[in-house]
Amino acid sequence: MFKGKLFVISGASGVGKSTVLSRVMAKREDLLFSVSATTRAPRPGEQEAVSYYFVSKDAFREMIDRGEFVEYDAHMNNFYGTPKGQLEEKLQRGHVILDIEPNGAFAVKKARPDAVLIFIAPPSMAEVERRLRSRGDTPEDQICLRLDRANWEMEQSKKYNYTVINDRVDACAEEILDIIAHEAD
Ligand code: 5GP
Repeated sequence: MFKGKLFVISGASGVGKSTVLSRVMAKREDLLFSVSATTRAPRPGEQEAVSYYFVSKDAFREMIDRGEFVEYDAHMNNFYGTPKGQLEEKLQRGHVILDIEPNGAFAVKKARPDAVLIFIAPPSMAEVERRLRSRGDTPEDQICLRLDRANWEMEQSKKYNYTVINDRVDACAEEILDIIAHEAD
C-alpha cells in the first residue's frame, strides 16, 4: 500500500505552470515531485535528476523495452516519461505531484483511478503566446508546435477533475493548495 496520493498537474508550456508549481511545493513539505525522463535538451538552469533525467533517444527506448515507465508519450519531437521506480519510492514517503501532459495524465488515471487530475489553464491563448516568446529560450518552430499543442490541451481539460485559471500566480497556487488539502488531508 502506498502512503501518498497522486496529483497530476497539466498545463501547456506558456501557462506559467512551473512558477505555480514551485509556489505550491514550497508551501507543503509533504509534496514530492516526480522527476520525468526526457530526450529534450536541458534549458538554462535545469538540473539533472531535479528537473528531469535527461537521456538520449536510444537510452529512452531501452527504458521503454525494460518496462521502466508508468507512462510515456512522444510530443513536440521528444519523448517524455514517468519512471516507475522513483514514483513508487516517493509514494511510500508522501504525496506526489506529476507535471505531465494529458495523454500521460489519462494513462496514470487508468492505472490509479484515485489520482487527482488538475489542469492549469491560461487566462487566454494570446497570453500563452506572449509568455512563450518572452521566455526567449524557445526557437520559433517550437513556439508554433507548442501553441498548437496548447490548443489541443485546452480541449482535454474537460476530462480533468479540476481546472484552475492562472490569472495571478499566487491565487492559482492557493487554489491548488486548497484542492490538495481537500483531497489529501
Ligand atoms: P517541457 O519540455 O516544457 O518541460 O514539457 C513539455 C510537456 O511535457 C509539458 O506539458 C509537460 O507536462 C510534459 N511532460 C513532462 N514530463 C512528462 C512525462 O513524464 N510524461 C508525459 N506524458 N508528459 C510529460
